[in-house]
Amino acid sequence: MRFIVLGSGSGGNAAVVEAGGIRLLVDAGLSAKQLVTRMMASGINPATLNAVLLTHEHGDHIKGLRVMMKQLAVPIYATPATSMVVRDGGVGGSWKIFESGAGFRMNGLEIQSFAVPHDAVEPVGFTFRHEDKSFGLLSDTGHVTKLILDRLRGVNALFVEANYDDELLEADMKRPWSTKQRISSRHGHLSNAQTAALVAELIPAGLRRVVLGHLSRDCNCPVKAAAAVRAAFMEVEVCCAGQDNTCGWWE
Ligand SMILES: [Zn+2]
Ligand SMILES: [Zn+2]
Repeated sequence: MRFIVLGSGSGGNAAVVEAGGIRLLVDAGLSAKQLVTRMMASGINPATLNAVLLTHEHGDHIKGLRVMMKQLAVPIYATPATSMVVRDGGVGGSWKIFESGAGFRMNGLEIQSFAVPHDAVEPVGFTFRHEDKSFGLLSDTGHVTKLILDRLRGVNALFVEANYDDELLEADMKRPWSTKQRISSRHGHLSNAQTAALVAELIPAGLRRVVLGHLSRDCNCPVKAAAAVRAAFMEVEVCCAGQDNTCGWWE
């Protein structure tokens, strides 16, 4: 099993997960042109994708989807409400609908979805399991619920958002108070501290590699985010994916 982040941040999110002969694009929040360019640069011919999975309908997760689906003959997997909103937005293609919390299989790759609290219609995170390897993907999430912890416990590697540093968000002058409230609310995004606490819970269960993503440009920085997560757990490998920094392939 391996995965690569094609880009991550409020400017657009997308990743590719591979295992058991299956290749999945998770979210398509970069322009279609960028998605193709970055996949090619990472040795992925987009024509070899087996499916697209969506976490939720926000623009930074689906921006390139409409154009991509004109070129790709693969199904889009999404929850009922997410698919409805995205289809209403003009995205064609064939859709495979899964209930939030449901699991499904492609070849030997087992995919499990789980509900996350975020201000979208029906947002989810995913775990991917193949043989004895597992990977969790938790993007936009306001707070870590017991369900999220249960679902992620036992993953070997994790992509998780570390959106903002508490002090930088509070000191930020660009964002109105209401926006800051939204970001830090229980249906907004995870702070470095919240992400670090999640990682701390998952390490005893076998988590060894963490890719941090969706870092706010103004209210976070890779050094702070990585430091927060690394602080107490030297045995964990941490990388910060950015809008243009993919962290490369992670096995
Ligand atoms: Zn979102
Ligand atoms: Zn987002």
